[in-house]
This record gives sequence, C-alpha cells and structure tokens, in this order.
Amino acid sequence: MCGKKNLDVSDLILEVYDQSGLSRQFAHTDTKRSREALLNLRQLHELASNFEEFHGRDLSLFIDYLEILDEMDGNPSPARIADEEAINLMTIHSAKGLEFKVVFVTNLAKDKFPLYRGGTEPLIPPELMEQYRDIFDDESIKDTEKAVRERKKEIKKEEERRLAYVALTRAKEHLFLTLAIKYADDEREPSEFLLDIGYDNWRAGGNILYGDLSYFRDNDIKVREMVKDSALEREKAMRKRLLIESLDSGNFAEIMKNTLLYQALKAGEAPDFKELFDSNWSKINPAEDAEKILGIIKENKNGVKFNPATMTFSYSSINTYENCPRQYELKELLRMPTRDSEDSTGAMNRGTFVHKVLEMAVSEKITTKGRLYEIRDTVAKEPDFRGVDIEAATAALDVFWERNKNRIANNLMVEQRFAVPLGGFTFKGFIDRVDLMPGTKNEIEIIDYKTGKSEPGPDARSKQLLLYARGIEHVYPQYKVKRLTLEQLGLLNPRTFEMNDGKFESASGSRMEGLDEKAVEDMIEIARKIAHDYEYGFERTKDEKACGECGYRLYCGE
Ligand code: SF4
Repeated sequence: MCGKKNLDVSDLILEVYDQSGLSRQFAHTDTKRSREALLNLRQLHELASNFEEFHGRDLSLFIDYLEILDEMDGNPSPARIADEEAINLMTIHSAKGLEFKVVFVTNLAKDKFPLYRGGTEPLIPPELMEQYRDIFDDESIKDTEKAVRERKKEIKKEEERRLAYVALTRAKEHLFLTLAIKYADDEREPSEFLLDIGYDNWRAGGNILYGDLSYFRDNDIKVREMVKDSALEREKAMRKRLLIESLDSGNFAEIMKNTLLYQALKAGEAPDFKELFDSNWSKINPAEDAEKILGIIKENKNGVKFNPATMTFSYSSINTYENCPRQYELKELLRMPTRDSEDSTGAMNRGTFVHKVLEMAVSEKITTKGRLYEIRDTVAKEPDFRGVDIEAATAALDVFWERNKNRIANNLMVEQRFAVPLGGFTFKGFIDRVDLMPGTKNEIEIIDYKTGKSEPGPDARSKQLLLYARGIEHVYPQYKVKRLTLEQLGLLNPRTFEMNDGKFESASGSRMEGLDEKAVEDMIEIARKIAHDYEYGFERTKDEKACGECGYRLYCGE
C-alpha cells in the first residue's frame, strides 16, 4: 500500500479489504451471515465515497469523521438481509433502504412520535454550529439559551419528520399506522404527523375515509389478561412463564405438566387428559410435521429464501450469471464496489453520454446536425460527464446522424422501461428507442444503441432483442414488433432483424443468422438456476480466463 499513497479513501478501503484478506474471508461461506458481512463492507465503502464527495480524500479527516459519528451514536446500522417470510421487527433507522409488502408503524401518538427527548448532545457547542449562528448574531435575542433550546426542538422535529417519511415509504402494498387510545391511564392525542396526513377527525371514532386512507378505531381491549389482577390470573401468568421456560429444558414430563396445568387453569377445570389425548392423537401426530419441517430446513443450505416477488432479472444480469454465478451474486445481489471500475469509467461514461445526447435529440425529433451538436455541448457541461472524450463521442454521433437523419421523425418513444412476467419471474429492461414503421399504424421497430467496438454474439443478441420485443408488447399490446435493430455506432453497419413468418430474420443483407426463438426460454431457465443458487450458493466460474478481467477478484479466490 506504500506505493499507493494517492488513493482516495474509498479506494484505500478496498485496498485494505484486499490486502488483509477481509473481503475474501466470506467468499467460501455462502450463508446469510456471510452475505450480511459483505454488505457491511459495502456500507463502509459507501460511507467513504459519500464523505469524499463533500469533504475530499483526506484519510485522517475521514477517521475523525468516523469518530464523531461513533460518539454521536450516528453509526449506520449493520446491514441485514430481510427475511421475506417472517415478521421483521426493526427500528426505523435500520429499515432505511428496505421495502416490504406490508408495514406496521406503531406508536403514532403525541409525545411518542415525534419524540423531542433522546439522542446524544452534539460534541460541537451550538455557538460554532451553522444551525444556531443567526441566534448568536442577533443582538435582539436576550435569552439565547432558550432560543437554542427552541431551535434544538425544531431541528429534532425535522429529523423525526424525515424519519417518519422513511417509515411511511417502506411499504409496497399496505401501510398500517397504529396508536393506542390510552397509554397506561393517559389518553393521548394522535401524532402531529398523523394530523399532517388528514387524520383530523379522530375523536369521532369508527371508520373515517380520507382519500386513499382509511382510519379505524378499535375499541377492543387487546391485553385483557395482562390488566386483570386476580389470584387466578397471577397463577395463569406464572404457569405460562414456566411452560415457556420448560420448552427449552427438553424435559418432556415437565413440558406436558405445565401445558396441561395451564390449559386447566384457562378453562377453569381439569378434564380427563388421557381421554382427551386418545381422542385427539390422530390430529396431533407431530412426528410427521417435524420430519417435514426438518427436511425443508436441511434442504435450504444457506438460510435465505428466494422470493420471486422481490427479485427481477434483466438481460445484462442474466449475462453476468452466465459469465460467472459468483460474479452475479457480488454484482447484482450484493452490489459490491470494485476497484477496476476506474479502468472502464471513461468508456462507460462515453456510452452514457452518447445515450443521453441521443435520447434528447430523438425525443425532440431534431432536423439538423447542428442541433445534434448543440445538444452534445449542453450535455457535456453536466458534472457527470466531465472528462468524457468528446471527440470519440462525436465520432459516434456522426455515425448516428448519417444512418438516422431521415428516420428520426418516425420516433414513438425513447428510454422506455418495461417489466414483463415470464415463466413465473419478472424481467425488466430499458429500451433506447422505439419507432413506428413507416406506412403503418401499429408496427414498431426497437432500436438499441451500442457505442463500443465489440459486437454481441448470436446468443446474446437473441436474448436481448427478443426480451425487448416481449417486454414492449406486454406493456403496449396495441403494437406489434416488426423490426429489431442493434444500432452499433462503433461498427460499419447496424444489425437489423425483421419479422418474417413468425421469426426474426436478418435484414442486414449479410448471411447473418436470424434470432433464436429459444433465447427467451433459455433466460427463464437461467432465472431458475439463479433462484436455486440464491438458496444453495453461487459457484465460481470454472473458466479462469473470466477472472482475469473481473473487478470482483477482490472478494474471490483463495
Ligand atoms: S474473480 Fe472469477 S470467480 Fe470471482 S467473481 Fe470474478 S469471474 Fe467469478
């Protein structure tokens, strides 16, 4: 590392992962725990990248920053893989970035949420903090302490409001917000955050409908047993506790005794337990269920469950899996950072730049090359594209103009997203451009721009183009895909395929073979393999050549 003194903090962190072997420590243990460990490494790297963006690349400043975070209890929560088939109990902070079908947010009552108390006092005195400067600068404020206190309250409230926003936006389908009518013996009003979203008629009770929201006041007491206080209730509560404790003892007689005693106390009588057992035995039969459950657990090697509703596939993610299943896991599932990304950033940025210019030019249906250049110059000023090789990008734009200048007017859509269900999985994609075929009302051409010099092989182009065709016809059933084009701006000719007798055949005038209809089935098959590997582990590729160029070597290998 001595020779790498000029590394950014985030790059230095990856260097430490690599040289210490930390990143590879989890490579051979493909379990939920090891995935969470890798996600934590990613989290630290993200923290460093964000820090660099605002405060520069000084390592000692970053260490100071971590210390301050630590002292202020502001460390990010450890990464967790949410269990899809269980109820996940978590703080709002640790729910950041996660989404669930159904979310319950509790305690939306006054003085519970927002909470004005709690949190650690910042180490920096208010006099030195920007948020309080106006108070100290304003000579008309006599009681600065009080003003600071008020301001702190406002700041805390804003923090809590952001937190409420996080909580309320975690749900994909249903969001339940709850509060109790009484806490201990005190009646509480609803949280002001609830009032903000229209819950202003709460005293009326019953159901209140307000837009998409419905409020329901439930007057049933949910914790009757706990609030009752009698000798019987106390005995029942004690037996229940003993029963729970005895469950772990493995002492069958003890467990049964507590179970039956508790049942008798609940019912208020002791029945003939033997008779009860004999008559119910066929319904109980726990051996069969136990075998079934243990079988499922044994089968599921790494403790994580694949859920097709939460995962989507794309042409490029399928391609990554084919290249190397382990790379798929690191790149698509865990989104681990790589060092080698700098090497390809130039070409990647150029591709993104050209795509952006073409998106604007085509959607505007430009009619002159001069306008294309104007758009190029505007986009080039964006901070993301600083350092892009404009000369190389212009060469691609020139090729585009020569081939497309007479067709831009036919454009129907640009940058079109789609999601299509195939074989029980969801496939997504992003189509650069869709044109209407001249002289038709519902026949379309899909165009994908490629700016590199390499050409996808027959298998890859069949997969990508046929997926796009299925996707767009799913989203827009009124259109029929007639033509599929790979507009290869770095090569002599585009590759075009046209529908003929139910098949896409090459229309490029060469002897190129048509698209293989089986490609979509093959992609579904690969999605099945991914679903399997999600639970059983992703293997490394056997083709060592693939590792040579791979940015994920850092997490892989011996
Ligand atoms: S280094 Fe090789 S085995 Fe590891 S992820 Fe990359 S391609 Fe796969």
